Amino acid sequence: MERRQFIGGALLAAQAQTQAQTPAPPQRELDAGGDGSSSYSVDTFIERPASGKPHQGKVLAAIQPHCDDIPCLAGGTVLKLLAEGYTGVLITMSNDSMAGDGASIGEIVASNERDTREVGRRLGLKEAFFLNYPNHNMDGWPILEMRARLVFLFRLLQVDTVLVYDPSSLYERNPDHYVTARAVESACWMAQSEWDYPEHFRAGLKPYGPRDRYYFARGPQLVNRVVDIGPYIDQKVFACLANVTQGPAGNNGAKLRRTLAAQGRKLPLLGNDDDTANRAYTKRFALARDQLRGQAHGLAYAEYFHYIPPDESEIPDYVARYSVPV
Ligand SMILES: [Zn+2]
Repeated sequence: MERRQFIGGALLAAQAQTQAQTPAPPQRELDAGGDGSSSYSVDTFIERPASGKPHQGKVLAAIQPHCDDIPCLAGGTVLKLLAEGYTGVLITMSNDSMAGDGASIGEIVASNERDTREVGRRLGLKEAFFLNYPNHNMDGWPILEMRARLVFLFRLLQVDTVLVYDPSSLYERNPDHYVTARAVESACWMAQSEWDYPEHFRAGLKPYGPRDRYYFARGPQLVNRVVDIGPYIDQKVFACLANVTQGPAGNNGAKLRRTLAAQGRKLPLLGNDDDTANRAYTKRFALARDQLRGQAHGLAYAEYFHYIPPDESEIPDYVARYSVPV
């Protein structure tokens, strides 16, 4: 053995012994769910368009209480993630019976259901599930039944990532929104457990649940992820236009154009036909939030999320760095 090698080896052994005797203190609190950081001061990460298909093989579930929630608040991110390799499904929790145009409750339900399928198609989601809970009254339904159905779907579809309302946002007035958020939050980790709903395993399913969570909100929330949706804004507008029965987009541009025309006025922004009016209205008014959020981070359009990454542990790194031969 050469002298240099011997000295190097001896030094390393001495170093390892010192490290083994004085364990390194923890460096930081982890970010992940459950046992993660308790800080309200977070670093904001800008998720930019990725090249290639980094998410190939992964599955997302876009989950909404009502048919206009996902397209308005997370449609750009769904489009981005699908373009980068994900496949995905749309899960709608309520029966959408309480909002929109129609002559009867039944007609509104049918119209919203048709719109929802079209939203899913325009976003590129391959299937739409309807869980059919009573609109505006989901807080009267056992959350545990919703959780059980979501656990089944997560295992069946092998869902890796969810997009849904934030269960920890500071203000939300609609019970369907916060009940959905809480049902999804608990279903994500219970779906991964071998002790929850074990009868599923007799039917061939395995413990499997989402580890990535993109939570959006209408009110104040912890925002640690800003997704650049600039390349997808026009596709997002197109998806939002599918909600003609309810929501802030649909035919509202054409309606405003007609109202103004009856008063002998027009907005040049709305152009000269209904389609142009609807697209321009949606981009400028219904999705004004995306423009403001983008501007705040030097982007054209953005969506905000409280992003919860997969649970992580410092132990593998610690072992790799500090373990020594016996
Ligand atoms: Zn809603």
